This record gives sequence, C-alpha cells and structure tokens, in this order.
Amino acid sequence: MIQGRNESILPGATLGVLGSGQLGRMFAIAARRMGYRVHTLSPDSDSPTGQVADVEVTADYGDQDAVSKFAQQVSVVTFEFENVPSATTEVVSQFSPVRPAGEVLHITQHRLREKWYLSERGFPVAPFRAIRSAEELAVAVRELGCPAVLKTAGWGYDGKGQIKISSASEVASVWEQLGSGEAILEGFVDFRLEVSVVAARGLDGEFSHFGVLENAHSNHILDVTVSPARISPKIAAEAEAIARGVLEALDVVGVLCVEMFLTRDDRLLINELAPRPHNSGHLTFDANVTSQFELQVRAICGLPLGSTELLRPAAMANLLGDVWENGEPNWSEALKLPEVKLHLYGKASARPGRKMGHLTAMADSADEAERIVREARRRLMTRES
Ligand code: AMP
Repeated sequence: MIQGRNESILPGATLGVLGSGQLGRMFAIAARRMGYRVHTLSPDSDSPTGQVADVEVTADYGDQDAVSKFAQQVSVVTFEFENVPSATTEVVSQFSPVRPAGEVLHITQHRLREKWYLSERGFPVAPFRAIRSAEELAVAVRELGCPAVLKTAGWGYDGKGQIKISSASEVASVWEQLGSGEAILEGFVDFRLEVSVVAARGLDGEFSHFGVLENAHSNHILDVTVSPARISPKIAAEAEAIARGVLEALDVVGVLCVEMFLTRDDRLLINELAPRPHNSGHLTFDANVTSQFELQVRAICGLPLGSTELLRPAAMANLLGDVWENGEPNWSEALKLPEVKLHLYGKASARPGRKMGHLTAMADSADEAERIVREARRRLMTRES
C-alpha cells in the first residue's frame, strides 16, 4: 500500500533511489547512518551507490517488471539522476510515493520546459528561444545577438550538448554539429560569479537551505565550490528567496538545487534546476550540521529537516579522472593537510572528465578554505618524495 501523504517513514524502512552514481552513494551513506535500508536501481552494476546500498538492482529504467518489483520493496522512491524516463516514475508511483514528484522531474529534465516554466512564473532567466531548425536558429541569433549558447533541450548536463555561437555565420555548422531535433538558444550571460542554493522542502512545507554557494567551473564542469559565497547579504537574501519561490512553485518534497548567474550589474538569473542533491552541496557532508544527503532522507521521509548551519567556512574541489593521469594520486601528501577530507566514489576506471571524488577543506575563512583545498588537490599530482 502506498504510504499516506503525511505519514512519516521511520528508520528501519527501506528507501529506493533511481540512479546509482555518487549522489546516490552519499544519500545511501546518510540513510544507512540513520538506520534505513537502501535499494538502488540503474543499468549499472558494482556502482558507486550499489557498493553501499543493501540491494543493487541492475535493470534498464524502461524495464517495467524490474521497476515495479523495485517499487514494491521500498517505502518511498527518490532519484539521484534526473534523466529517468517519465514512464518509469509513473510505474513507480503505482506502488510507492515518488519524491520529488515525477512532474518535477519532467519539467527539470528538459531545458526548454524548465525555462518556460520559470519565465511564465516571473523567475529571472537569461533571454532564450526554442529552436527546431537552422532557419529558426538564424532568426533567434539575430534577435538575441552574439555571443549566444545553443543547448540540446533534453539530456544535457555538465556542458554536454552545448555550443557557444560567436557569429551569425556559424549558424549552419553549429546546428549540424548539435545534431538534435530540439534545442534552446540562450543569450550569453557575462556573469561575475556563478552561485547555487541547495534547498529542501518537507512534506509539511518546511523549507531549509544551505545559504548561497559560490561555484567556479572549468570546461563547463564544476571545479571548486566555496561556502559561504563571497557576495553581499542583500544578494544572498535575493538568491535564497528565488530558491524558496522555485521549490514552493514546484511543490517539491525533497532536495532541489537552483543554479544561478550573478551578472556584473548584480542581477541573479537562474541557469538550471537540479531536482536532487548537487555537486555544489557536497561540502555540506563535512561542513554543515545536516548534509544535503541527510536533508534528502529527512525530506522524503517526512521528518523534521534539522539544522543546516555551516560549522566552518568550507571549500570543495572536484577530483576528475584527469588527476589519475600520472598514476595513483599522492593521497598521503594531500592528507598531510589536517583540515582536508577525502571522498572517493568507488569508480573503477579514471577517465578524463569523469567525477571520481572530491576534497573538502574547512578553515576560519572562505578564502583560506579555498586556498587549502586547491593546495591539497595540487599535491595529489606530485610524486612521492
Ligand atoms: P549548464 O550545463 O547549462 O549548467 O552549463 C554549464 C556551464 O556553462 C555553466 O555553469 C556556465 O559556466 C556555462 N553557461 C551555460 N549557459 C550559459 C549562458 N547562457 N551564458 C554564459 N555561460 C553559460
């Protein structure tokens, strides 16, 4: 029987997670620490989540039999990967609550739907156009001007499926290169900073967040996050209010991250929503009273959300496969820095660009935490002395 809408799911129950990457792994660690059992379903085996879950189901998201069996064995289902087909969440919802709801997933897994949804409700976004042909692209490039960014409407993350257009003469070749039926053209935002707010809503509407996180990207992939963001209290309050508005509009139960640009003239524009914990919130595992993963557990289980207070300023540096380029990273050298925490996701092969783990550092100031975490990562690439 499906859990009643306002009933709490208590420790000892089994939580299901669709997807099996590092986000599911850290969710499973938080859930197991609180005495829950965790089942994961994805097409992979020996996955980052599967390694710490009680049960790892290896099946395609479209395998209705496997998905319904999975859903019948858990009290609630959440996800750590948003590109799960709507049909899958529909099957799950026959047996178990899906939190956040499939509708949230449907909106946020498609860039155009997401931008329409946000702009119709008055949330600030960069100017954009829907594109289905080279002709539409030519018109939109004239209207929005250059530079502009063309992105596939579906299945994009970490800058995959996006191309910057610097001049109108590139339209035909860029359209061919993207090779997609549906795309979105966005005006290029000359931002001062990228920030995010990772927030949660409980079953009863309780709202919680980690303040504003400051993000630096490299090759479109998150590189370093600093908490708290080095911005004015006024802009921080604006960013938090935007995040709250988004979670309330979408009636989210669970965790959702709002990624934003801060323009040079101090305007906030939403870039993207992620209906789950986010890479920029990884530092909360070490630096906040309640982490984003514990918050996800509490929110989907209908429990009080707990304090998200930042214990100390912190910074996180991603470890991509590139760190393994010269062989095994020099772990000892990095861990000689006592403020540094190592997180590895249990992935067997270190391909360039693949997220393998991260480092977190805590210090008396955000600047110092950032300096230490960058130094720790630099040390990983040094040879044993
Ligand atoms: P996304 O996959 O949409 O999150 O984009 C990845 C990164 O590309 C962002 O974090 C930005 O650094 C950059 N980017 C994406 N869209 C834009 C835009 N409209 N203007 C400027 N930079 C962008």
